[in-house]
Amino acid sequence: MPAKKPGNPILDQLKSATTDERLAVEFFERMRWPEGAACPRCGDVDVYQMMQAGTDERQENFRWRCRGCKKQFTVRVGTIMEDSPIPLKVWAYAFWSACASKKGVSSLQIQRETGLSYKSSLFMMHRIRWAMVESGGAPLFGTVEVDETYVGGKPRKANKVEDRKSAKRGRGTDKQPVVAMVERGGRVRTRVVANVTAANLEEAMRECVHPSACIVTDELNVYPSAARDFAGGHKTVKHGDGEYVKYEADGFAIHTNTAEGFFSLFKRALIGAYHHVSREHLHRYAAEREFLYNTRKMDDADRVATAIRMAEGKRLTYKQPALA
Ligand SMILES: [Zn+2]
Repeated sequence: MPAKKPGNPILDQLKSATTDERLAVEFFERMRWPEGAACPRCGDVDVYQMMQAGTDERQENFRWRCRGCKKQFTVRVGTIMEDSPIPLKVWAYAFWSACASKKGVSSLQIQRETGLSYKSSLFMMHRIRWAMVESGGAPLFGTVEVDETYVGGKPRKANKVEDRKSAKRGRGTDKQPVVAMVERGGRVRTRVVANVTAANLEEAMRECVHPSACIVTDELNVYPSAARDFAGGHKTVKHGDGEYVKYEADGFAIHTNTAEGFFSLFKRALIGAYHHVSREHLHRYAAEREFLYNTRKMDDADRVATAIRMAEGKRLTYKQPALA
């Protein structure tokens, strides 16, 4: 009998972390400082855990002290969890829910499961989505499908089966256009744009796609101009003529099915988990779907560890305008 494949040890640590505050603190510390703790303020590694007087128990806020700058810190400092009164075991649970659920998790669900107020739950989940935003990642290479769709806004009875043509123009809806750029076999990037114009699409593509890429889109009239500078060229499929894939002589398939597949997952998550997503917050949900797509080959535990590592350097508070 072959030996049973050992599970990911992070998974067990994570499960314990959701039930006990000390284990949660130690879990976040291990994730953040796998090589040993360092001061988040000055970077000094000459740091030590503060103990309760006369015991070998850690001080109750799990503080550290830095011998370099003499300041105290905790594992929360300099992360999305700084300034939050929510226990780290609840944060661990929320990270887990956000990373392991294929369909997405709503703040309402987290509220029910953790007993937090709705406001706190929303705050926490928005921070986690913010952690998932990948900034400054490598541009998309190779064949990149670009497509746009309309999502969010107030739910309407009539738009259950959405007519793609009218959705493209966004007529009579308060839905928000989202652009997805998908590297075939690779990563996705999304941008929420004010309107679907050549200028907006060009800007999104310039930010996310390498100039050598080959762009594949449908026949929407804004794409030729938006894609004109890409060295790999611009290929189109004519959805209006019922054409969903076109093969070139060398077997290259022109289609945008990968991008459409991403949008269909995104929309299902929006309908299933989030009852209402306002325009202001849509980019957060898009970033969450982007993160889940780009880490799809990881197991759940590694995905959680990745999200936690991305939470560093992203401290935000209620007051910052980015959260408006
Ligand atoms: Zn220091």
